[in-house]
Amino acid sequence: MFRSLAGRSVIVTGASKGIGRGLAERFGAAGCGVLVVSRQAGDADAAAAQIRAAGGSAQAFAGDVTRQADMRAMAAAAVEAFGALDILCANAGIFPAATLDSMTEADFDAVLATNLKGMFLAVSACLPAMKARRAGRIVLTSSITGPVTGFPGWGHYGASKAGQLGFMRTAAIELAPYGITVNAVLPGNIVTEGLTSMGEDYVRAMTASVPMRRLGSVADVANAALFFASDEAAFITGQSLVIDGGQILPESLAALAAG
Ligand code: NAP
Repeated sequence: MFRSLAGRSVIVTGASKGIGRGLAERFGAAGCGVLVVSRQAGDADAAAAQIRAAGGSAQAFAGDVTRQADMRAMAAAAVEAFGALDILCANAGIFPAATLDSMTEADFDAVLATNLKGMFLAVSACLPAMKARRAGRIVLTSSITGPVTGFPGWGHYGASKAGQLGFMRTAAIELAPYGITVNAVLPGNIVTEGLTSMGEDYVRAMTASVPMRRLGSVADVANAALFFASDEAAFITGQSLVIDGGQILPESLAALAAG
């Protein structure tokens, strides 16, 4: 799939677990050199080692997306490791729950710092290397929560994920003259460490709300990200793609039950 990706280099933030790990593994299998980024060095090392064991090319980088110096060092590490930087998957995110009556200023700031400011710091750090070659692909991991739907406890999270799309639209215009595209994947409920930590009741309820009657896999999200990163998607920018098994479609519980 997408042979144009072979030999490209990609940074994936939040790649030690979950969706990011799925992205890193899929890009590795497509022949890309992958920089696996997370705060915990041991986890990033393990994910990179798994890609290499499968025959791919990968290195680990321990960094925090909320720190500008880390993001600049991350971009430099990708160029050093692979000779160039072609693709950024700005994926790292957190989703602690807090309803409005309990949400503190610190809760709100922490979610926005990782999910929205962290995305900006990752993107801006990668731009000099991409602009110099007048080519690049940026794929943001947003969510259905915020841009399309709401969920009690995730006011700050939804704001961060909708904010990513606002950023994307302006970035896409500014970067188009450089041959850099910026697009977003909007996952529904995807089986990851983060999601399963929400508990069995949550997983059961979410599965029942998906017309396809299953949760998504990290590969489902990665397939869409690989498309946005490919040469075949060269004329697509500023767009978002929902990957949710139809979860946002039913207009009522009756509509879901009738399916
Ligand atoms: P996850 O399983 O909890 O994994 C999160 C990853 O991000 C880990 O590798 C974590 O490693 C890293 N990370 C967290 N904070 C970081 C920071 N400040 N700097 C660098 N890395 C950081 O999460 P996930 O479910 O795969 O979610 C990944 C993305 O998909 C998020 O943006 C999330 O909002 C989005 N998403 C997920 C779902 C879903 O159903 N799972 C649905 C919609 C959208 P360290 O802790 O070691 O840093």
